[in-house]
Amino acid sequence: MNSAESAALVLALRERGWTAAENGESADLVLLNTCAVRQTAEQRVMGRLAQYQALKKKRRSVEQGFTLIVAGCMAERLGEGLKETFDAVDYVMGTAARSVFPVILETLEKGGTKGSLPLTAQFSFSASHLEEGQFHSFVPIMHGCNNYCSYCIVPYVRGRELSRSPASIMEEIRLLGERGVRAITLLGQNVNSYRFEDGERGMTDFPALLELVARETEKTPIRWVRFLSSHPKDLSSPAIRVMAAHRVFCRHLHLCVQHGSNAVLAAMNRRYTRERYLELVDEIREAMPGISLSTDILVGFPGETEADLERTLDLMERVKFHYAYMYHYNPREGTAAYDLPGRIGEDVKRERLARVIALQKKHTQELLKQRVGSRETILIEGISRKNADELIGRTERDEMVAVPGCLAIGRFAQVSLSSLCGNTFRAKELTLCPGD
Ligand code: SF4
Repeated sequence: MNSAESAALVLALRERGWTAAENGESADLVLLNTCAVRQTAEQRVMGRLAQYQALKKKRRSVEQGFTLIVAGCMAERLGEGLKETFDAVDYVMGTAARSVFPVILETLEKGGTKGSLPLTAQFSFSASHLEEGQFHSFVPIMHGCNNYCSYCIVPYVRGRELSRSPASIMEEIRLLGERGVRAITLLGQNVNSYRFEDGERGMTDFPALLELVARETEKTPIRWVRFLSSHPKDLSSPAIRVMAAHRVFCRHLHLCVQHGSNAVLAAMNRRYTRERYLELVDEIREAMPGISLSTDILVGFPGETEADLERTLDLMERVKFHYAYMYHYNPREGTAAYDLPGRIGEDVKRERLARVIALQKKHTQELLKQRVGSRETILIEGISRKNADELIGRTERDEMVAVPGCLAIGRFAQVSLSSLCGNTFRAKELTLCPGD
């Protein structure tokens, strides 16, 4: 999500004629788009700010300095207080204030350097930024989150959920199609709770939006649509049915489970049970046989027992995820879980995480091996870094494929998966899909 937002800021700069400096040392404007999800990310930004503070002092002694803007979640969380810590900071632009970025640029273009943002700044969705030849784009459909998972800072730094209008989303899809985009990902903290109220047209929920997207993409060269992130408590049967009914939706779903123990899920304030999650998996697989599922797993939450961890391993055995993002809990100041008793020691967290990772690696390999020999459609994403005669593509199930050939990037092709090297398939018999 942050990279999509950074791309939108770059687009705003380019549209006004700003160009990239050779390095940070010679720039007129330094813009740090920050993330506040992990404490370590914030610490890195603090380190960068200290460097820019020193650089500004040095440059001011010989010439005019530069403008320093801190944007994103960390700016939202710490606000104008950042300027007190680092007086080199000229603007603090939180996520809700991004719409005033053009106002800041206009001030700078007129020779101004420093200021405060209008207090009335409202969040607004920005259009996707596309590089020449880019064939995939993120399409933001909502912003913020209402869920307040007890370990997560996002609702505090991104605010309440706000859904983008269907008309604006369709307009963007049309434009992306005109510019040759072949695949899009609908983006939001919790896309399943998308809900847009329009006085005349009534309410559009996520399944209705998916229907509109399916119809709109039919008129464009866009062949694949993904969406993330999905919250298990909000992924509804109608959404699953719409997804199953339209082949434009990739047969891959990232459905964050986080844990397999009901006690831990409740402490995390996830608002579903392992039983509900498993039911959902059955429903998805029944509607779309062969779909790949991926997830996030968080171990070492305060109070997690050995039995809780066993429940997670058991859930993994039952579901068999294609892949997972696995991490251990780190307390985040400002979240509800920060003060929970029963913190787990670092060694225990690491040991538990290692077990989860080992099991996931086994499942990934088992699932991928079963797919060797099948014929698949891939979207060619680029040239292999290891071998210039080889292309890298991705299946709709989010599997990587290396195949000899020199077809244009951004086109769909059919391949036969012949073997597996790590988690990447080797393939042969590359042929373009009809119409590509
Ligand atoms: S759903 Fe939970 S984990 Fe995801 S952004 Fe919202 S609060 Fe954070």
